[in-house]
Amino acid sequence: MKLAFARELEQFRAEAANWLETQLAGPFAHLRGLHNHVARIPERRVWEQALAAGRWSCIGWPAAFGGRDASLAEQVVFAEEYARANAPARIGHIGVELTGPTLLAYGTPDQQQRFLPAIANGTAIWCQGYSEPNAGSDLANVRTKAWIEGEKYRIEGQKIWTSMGMIADWCFAVCRTTLGSAGPKGLSFLLVNMRQPGVTVRPIKQMTGEAEFAEVFFDGAVAEIADRVGEEGDGWKVAMGLLGFERGASTLAQQMHFRTELDQIIAAAQANGKARDPVIRQKLAQAHIGLKIMRYNALRMLSAAEGGAPTPEGYTYKLYWSQWHRDLGELAMDVLGQGGETGLADGGFPPLQNMYLMSRADTIYAGTNQIQRNIIAERALGLPREPRG
Ligand SMILES: Cc1cc2nc3c(=O)[nH]c(=O)nc-3n(C[C@H](O)[C@H](O)[C@H](O)COP(=O)(O)OP(=O)(O)OC[C@H]3O[C@@H](n4cnc5c(N)ncnc54)[C@H](O)[C@@H]3O)c2cc1C
Repeated sequence: MKLAFARELEQFRAEAANWLETQLAGPFAHLRGLHNHVARIPERRVWEQALAAGRWSCIGWPAAFGGRDASLAEQVVFAEEYARANAPARIGHIGVELTGPTLLAYGTPDQQQRFLPAIANGTAIWCQGYSEPNAGSDLANVRTKAWIEGEKYRIEGQKIWTSMGMIADWCFAVCRTTLGSAGPKGLSFLLVNMRQPGVTVRPIKQMTGEAEFAEVFFDGAVAEIADRVGEEGDGWKVAMGLLGFERGASTLAQQMHFRTELDQIIAAAQANGKARDPVIRQKLAQAHIGLKIMRYNALRMLSAAEGGAPTPEGYTYKLYWSQWHRDLGELAMDVLGQGGETGLADGGFPPLQNMYLMSRADTIYAGTNQIQRNIIAERALGLPREPRG
């Protein structure tokens, strides 16, 4: 097990850090620290294009599609530097981290040619159309229907909690194409253009006052038959393959961002005297230890992944970081005290309050904590499967 990055990787790190610093101290200084996903979209598209021009947009992809064929370790290093530079949250992240790898693994050469360049250069923003009002943890209960009518699929149904839905150009949607089927059979994975008359997007307001996700209604929307990924009725395989990419390099690198947040909390505690409170000191030390554990676990998963070995400990990672981050949000509130209860004049919240409110979602998206525990029980510990109806 390696607990540090090799020297060549540190050279790569320096190159990435240098590029990011040049951009974020220069032409993109106004975007530094912007973590909201739906603000200043035109400027953010320009940022995506600059990443593409520097070949930093999708470094893990093949060079033929704008990538660098980067190893997982290089991808983690870049994601770490991205977080350390306080670069803006990427509006292209769903396309780069989910759609792209899925098309590379399951798409046809024609789909790869048509879709990958626009993801790489930031001209196409993607969203994920999985969840529905009665299909979240139980994703196989998807009811959105699609059937072939003439030359195209016609789609009827509703998705919910669709992050980036308001600004997305394209959506990958899990739809029931074998009408009357149930469970994971009879589903297909369709690429749906969001800019068409049969698609209605209704933003959902979060407790931060912002709306970063939406309800999406398909009412007579269409998708090309050539835009189905995988075989008809075999979309579950593609949908599950995509979820495997969800815990990729950026997840392993996010401790860099967490470190910045913890440092802000420590600075606040020092400024308001809470750093002398023994309970707060214990909690700060515990947060620091948790972050170190996450770091070493990430490195352990990374070296196991490089060796091609399965990583049962990888199953615990989401549960661990999400709970740690929620606790960090609460610690921020403990430190800020009454000051943490007031928002900004424009209705928004300062960064630490915003982090606290957003952290409540960490234990829900990408698999709730209860579902993570089921996964650990069944896949890592080999316990009997949960009874399913
Ligand atoms: C910030 C955010 C962004 C999101 N973005 C997207 C997106 O872009 N695209 C998308 O498709 N979805 C998205 N989601 C939706 C997310 O995937 C679902 O919220 C999640 O899968 C849980 O589903 P649910 O909300 O329907 O809750 P439910 O599945 O109804 O769960 C309710 C409660 O029951 C528990 N539960 C359910 N089943 C079991 C079980 N078998 N064993 C034990 N406990 C169980 C859950 O853990 C939970 O506590 C997002 C969610 C959030 C919070």
